[in-house]
Amino acid sequence: MKRALVNGAGGFIGGHLVKKLKKEGYWVRGVDINQHQFSTSEADEFLLLDLREEENCKKALSVDHGTFDEVYQLAADMGGLGFIHSAETQIMHNNILINTHMTHNAATFGVPRYFFSSSVCVYRDMQPGEPEMHEFEAIPAKPNNEYGWEKLYSELMAIAYSKKSDMKVRIARFQNCYGPEGEWHGGREKAPAAICRKIAEANDGGEIEVWGDGSAIRSYTYVADMIEGIYLLMHSDLEGPVNIGCPQYVSVNELVETVCEIAGKNVHTKSIDGPVGVHSRNFSNARIYSIGWKAKYSLKDGIAETYPWIKAQVEKNSAAGRK
Ligand code: NAD
Repeated sequence: MKRALVNGAGGFIGGHLVKKLKKEGYWVRGVDINQHQFSTSEADEFLLLDLREEENCKKALSVDHGTFDEVYQLAADMGGLGFIHSAETQIMHNNILINTHMTHNAATFGVPRYFFSSSVCVYRDMQPGEPEMHEFEAIPAKPNNEYGWEKLYSELMAIAYSKKSDMKVRIARFQNCYGPEGEWHGGREKAPAAICRKIAEANDGGEIEVWGDGSAIRSYTYVADMIEGIYLLMHSDLEGPVNIGCPQYVSVNELVETVCEIAGKNVHTKSIDGPVGVHSRNFSNARIYSIGWKAKYSLKDGIAETYPWIKAQVEKNSAAGRK
């Protein structure tokens, strides 16, 4: 039986990845600084560890008789734009410690395959209408935020270790990912979850606040598609960073319209000041397409899965008298 370590198993994508690996027949150890917020982890073993500490990285990686066959590194201090643009020092400090200790020790322990979850935040800002950007164009680098700089450095570190050891490294640059069991309130939620929550809370015909003028262009990838991409990439021969994202690009206003359609509500948007991040995105998926991946969920299909889950969380919280 293959053994996998999932760091960040208490989080959104890590939680879904554990389920996938269990379905594929792996023995799975999940590690996180927190328990999963929304469900009981399906990992065979779940260790609560702070991976900023090197000793804890060693504990996470230690198994009887050899090493893990696969290590998936998804642990990170992260959140949506509101968090990324206010917690720069915390993000740089915490994530570089996690990745420095985990990458170094995975290589030292002789792990044969290592997955690193990077982000399209490594790229510079783009203007609407620009042609697709490819993975190699991230350098010369001009990420829009510190979170992106840390990801880029950690990518380079993982690649450097792969050259000095037998560890095969696979790196995905995720586009914005959404779905059930993701952060939906409290300040770390990303745009799709925040908009689902605001629309679930609004009356039909009511108003919701949106940061900026709603013209920023993004692609949103449904979590089931992302998990398939991670799994395929990990088992492929693709070296170097690989973009994974749904090819459907929409403005924030179009995201609002899609959620309204699924919710069966009409709402007006009120533009307020807030971090809006980059203007536009347009990334090549040619590398991930070359190994047979393609997003199966359109934005509407993914929101149809996500909105009911967030609406249920809103209702549960309000029944419990919480905001
Ligand atoms: P998440 O916040 O839900 O999961 C990250 C997990 O890491 C959390 O459960 C958190 O508790 C854990 N963690 C944080 N600090 C830790 C520490 N010191 N020790 C151990 N665990 C720690 O985020 P996610 O959306 O599941 O993202 C997973 C990975 O994918 C992250 O590396 C993230 O940067 C990357 N990513 C996500 C997106 C997205 O849209 N969700 C986009 C690009 C990249």
